[in-house]
Amino acid sequence: MHVAVVGAGAFGAWTAYQLVQRGAKVTLFDPWGPGHSRSSSGGETRLIRGTYGNDEVYTQLVAEAFGAWEDFQRQSEHQVYFPTGSLWLFSKSDDGYARTAMPLLQRHGLSLEEWTTGQARDKYPQIYLDDIKTVFWEKEAGYLMARKTCQYLVEEVVKAGGQFLHERAAPGNIEGTKLKQIKLASGGAFTADAYVFACGPWMPTLFPALLSDLISISRQEIHYFGLPDLSKAYRTPNLPIWVDMGERIMYGVPDYDGRGFKVADDTREGNFDPSTADREVRAEKLNQVRQYLGYRFPALRDAPMTEARVCQYSNSPNGHFLLDQHPEADNVFLAGAGCGHGFKLGPVVGRIMAERVLDGLSVPLEFRLESLQNAGTLSNQFEH
Ligand SMILES: Cc1cc2nc3c(=O)[nH]c(=O)nc-3n(C[C@H](O)[C@H](O)[C@H](O)COP(=O)(O)OP(=O)(O)OC[C@H]3O[C@@H](n4cnc5c(N)ncnc54)[C@H](O)[C@@H]3O)c2cc1C
Repeated sequence: MHVAVVGAGAFGAWTAYQLVQRGAKVTLFDPWGPGHSRSSSGGETRLIRGTYGNDEVYTQLVAEAFGAWEDFQRQSEHQVYFPTGSLWLFSKSDDGYARTAMPLLQRHGLSLEEWTTGQARDKYPQIYLDDIKTVFWEKEAGYLMARKTCQYLVEEVVKAGGQFLHERAAPGNIEGTKLKQIKLASGGAFTADAYVFACGPWMPTLFPALLSDLISISRQEIHYFGLPDLSKAYRTPNLPIWVDMGERIMYGVPDYDGRGFKVADDTREGNFDPSTADREVRAEKLNQVRQYLGYRFPALRDAPMTEARVCQYSNSPNGHFLLDQHPEADNVFLAGAGCGHGFKLGPVVGRIMAERVLDGLSVPLEFRLESLQNAGTLSNQFEH
């Protein structure tokens, strides 16, 4: 089967990779290249963690993903998964998100243990913990290479006989129950047996009637801070990734490759156009992040900002991804709505899509169009 995959971010690149691994002929399209700066898969790093509250579907899928990331590193000979462990900090009394996850993680071969704040303070004195009520340690968690993984995946797809084209593509007409071809921005059209659209935050533009009310695009800022001279306290292995479940969910990654200490706020802001919106950092946001940094990591109070990025989440109403067949065309498949947690699950998204397209296997209920259409609203996607 010849499959055209449109979009080479995490979802499209992993789908293309899993398709070629299963013997399909694949042509992958992206006008700006894998993991480019405007995509949701751009930048340096993403977190991988198995803790997903009491949601066993995601817990099981992340357990699978950990193995798939390790397999990919072996096959591509690139380190893309850095298992630092993760510190989960709860300043509010409700730590159910971690506590309910503990037996689920154990059932799927992962671990999450509770620490006293004293234990955490002894191990990581660089973190201010006086307001923290409970602390959990997730051993297998860590960070993943973001942009680089997309590039390595495309290299592997091409090595396995697939094709990558720097092209923008749009769906052509649906005739009967089939999409006949995709239209290319450079002119002309391209025909395949099946088409997977994995266009991240551009999905609502490509399928406005179907998706513009279902997927919303939010603005996210990421900041990097320079470290004090000779300080090893903010680098691996002396600091893991961390997630701070306070009023706002803040998370971060220790210094990687000299890029600085990454701090991010998971709060979703505004409506964002991934093609045209400006990507300048806002002073107000930077001040908020600085205040937070100085509070939680007091020695970094005056650390200079070294880099910042503005990125976007593609949010579904309930925090679930969209992995499904198009309702009007049985040779068109949609992989999107990665929200703020899709990157780590890229290998599993790719596997689910490849099995759906090649073997007609069904997709877990959560990821079907109908689940998103009938969903309530989540205020916070970390709930998944
Ligand atoms: C700031 C930030 C932090 C995040 N943190 C985490 C984290 O810690 N852990 C985690 O698991 N997840 C995280 N996520 C979520 C994760 O990164 C996304 O869910 C994931 O990258 C989405 O990948 P995607 O392939 O759907 O979209 P994208 O990466 O945006 O890829 C879509 C691609 O489609 C291409 N495209 C669009 N239109 C067309 C067209 N017409 N023709 C051809 N190509 C087209 C684009 O150029 C783009 O490359 C984070 C996201 C952001 C933004």
